[in-house]
Amino acid sequence: MSHVETIKVLLIEDEPGDAELVKIRLKNSKVIFFQLTWVETLTDAKIQLTKQRFNVLLLDLSLPDSSGLETLKKAQIIATETPIIVLTGQNNTDFALKALKIGAADYLVKGDFSEDSLIRTIRYTLQRTKMEKQNQLLVAALKATANGIIITDRKSVIKWANPAFTKLTGYTLKEAIGNKPSELLKSSQQTKPYYQQMWQTLLAGKPWRGEIINQRKDGSLYNEELNIAPVLNKGGAIEHFIGIKEDISPRKRMEEKLKILANTDPLTGLFNRRVFLERLEEETERLNRSEKHCATLLMLDLDFFKQVNDNYGHATGDKVLCSFAKILTTRLRSIDLAARLGGEEFAILLPSTTTKGALIIAERLRLNVANNSVEHRNYKVKFTVSIGIAELSKKDNDYEDVLHRADAALYTAKDKGRNQSCLFSPIQKRN
Ligand code: GH3
Ligand code: MG
Ligand code: MG
Repeated sequence: MSHVETIKVLLIEDEPGDAELVKIRLKNSKVIFFQLTWVETLTDAKIQLTKQRFNVLLLDLSLPDSSGLETLKKAQIIATETPIIVLTGQNNTDFALKALKIGAADYLVKGDFSEDSLIRTIRYTLQRTKMEKQNQLLVAALKATANGIIITDRKSVIKWANPAFTKLTGYTLKEAIGNKPSELLKSSQQTKPYYQQMWQTLLAGKPWRGEIINQRKDGSLYNEELNIAPVLNKGGAIEHFIGIKEDISPRKRMEEKLKILANTDPLTGLFNRRVFLERLEEETERLNRSEKHCATLLMLDLDFFKQVNDNYGHATGDKVLCSFAKILTTRLRSIDLAARLGGEEFAILLPSTTTKGALIIAERLRLNVANNSVEHRNYKVKFTVSIGIAELSKKDNDYEDVLHRADAALYTAKDKGRNQSCLFSPIQKRN
């Protein structure tokens, strides 16, 4: 048995002749079964609507208990979601159009509709209602989502934006419509080729994804993950773009924090051993690539530091380490790299510096340290540093070689009585 579609119709019509006509027309349909309920007044319609659900209402506007557009307004209240098709008299198109304007789904001219047009009108109304409901649901979903969403035309002029877009950027829907996102949110943080590459992808009809820095209405910058999808028409031409924006500023801030944590020594704020060795390796490779390049390594170790801890406590020892680190960061050039390798051992990489220049820098640092002190219970704790100096060499197998040489020079400085800078000399041996 083939499936017959059932449509429940509530006919509100006080003229029996007109009602009969509708009844006959609907009965003749072979593919759709119309289950018709007929009432003559709005009051009776209300009773029926509380008893059961209907798919559609056919409404005569002149009823014993109401007339004109008032009938439609009242019927809309009692029908809630059910679509209403208005039955009007002949030669009354203006009136019918008014009815459409205030929310009738469609209209039929009494005595002037065939079986075919009646059924078609009902079916279209139901289809449209279903689509409208679906659209409402989709719009509700777009409005509820936490991501900013904009729809633009093919020239990237904004046609619609959701509340999350307003929350993210500060621009209301009204302010956004008619503008291009590139004008509203421009931060000048991305390069021209970056956008060129984006447009190349989009105009080829492909989606694009990227991370960009945008500017809010209040001028503040934020990080955004942007997904753009071109929407093509049936002919394959781009009609719209849909942009989905996610605020990734908190994630970026966290990444930045983690990067700092991973790269620095928490006590002194200097770079840690890992970063230093990476940079030293890079510098060694650069040296091998270029003719003129030179660089020198300093190894620094505080003298009798164990005694500082023993005499004044670990906290004061920490203060000494921080004070020493501060001297390094304030006295060095921006191209130099100072790091805490561990304990009270430090290293400095001096790019574009020969041993001669490095010795001057080392001596300046050493004197700065010797003239410095930290407070311990109104007592000034003095401390000194020994420094070993070795230049990077093209003959080195890897960066370990120069580390060994600087270490050997440091050992000599310690051996000679501490608080001094020593250059590596080949006859030195490291124990
Ligand atoms: P030398 O002149 O030969 O370098 O003698 P030294 O006492 O400085 O060297 P030693 O290697 O014997 O002692 C280093 C001390 O540094 C031992 C250790 O407890 C201390 N130390 C290592 N890390 C820290 C730290 O983070 N804070 C403090 N306060 N002390 C530390
Ligand atoms: Mg020491
Ligand atoms: Mg030591």
